[in-house]
Amino acid sequence: MSKGKTVVISVGGNLKETPCAIKSAILLLARISSFITVSSLYLTSPWGGKTKMPFFNAVVVTKCSFSPITLLTICKEIEFIKGRRVGEVWGDRILDLDILLYSNLRITTEILTLPHPSLGRRNYLIAPLRELLPFYEDIVPHYLIDWLIGKDKDYIKRFVWKCV
Ligand code: ADP
Ligand code: MG
Repeated sequence: MSKGKTVVISVGGNLKETPCAIKSAILLLARISSFITVSSLYLTSPWGGKTKMPFFNAVVVTKCSFSPITLLTICKEIEFIKGRRVGEVWGDRILDLDILLYSNLRITTEILTLPHPSLGRRNYLIAPLRELLPFYEDIVPHYLIDWLIGKDKDYIKRFVWKCV
């Protein structure tokens, strides 16, 4: 059994360099995890009206020993390394890492809310998570399992990963 807490992280973005940045982010997360599994890559319609560029999204499940806040800092650092700078909410971005679930922790602080508030409302998070869910049902709260049936009608297209 791998050590650490089970954590679900979404990786996404909507620039042409994003698929490459997502792969790098996954490799970096793998280096700090005792275990990692990755969903397919999804192409999804933009959300919030600030951009017309479609988004790439995937979800990873990892096991790691960092506290939630340290993990958030690591996610922000990975975004920065891959060229993300502070921009508009819902605007174009090369890479966005969000912590969707940290074990079964529920917290609301100024800088971190768990589970992530958008989880259960957005197809770009639901579809990849649903793919991995059969293996991790124990950490997904029951109210989310209902949402994961998916009422969101956003355009979504699934890709299998190309090995590099
Ligand atoms: P967004 O992800 O909403 O497009 P940002 O990536 O800029 O925008 O995140 C804004 C802030 O959301 C972050 O600085 C972080 O403090 C906060 N935040 C709250 N909960 C979470 C979470 N579960 N995962 C990632 N960021 C979170
Ligand atoms: Mg974010």
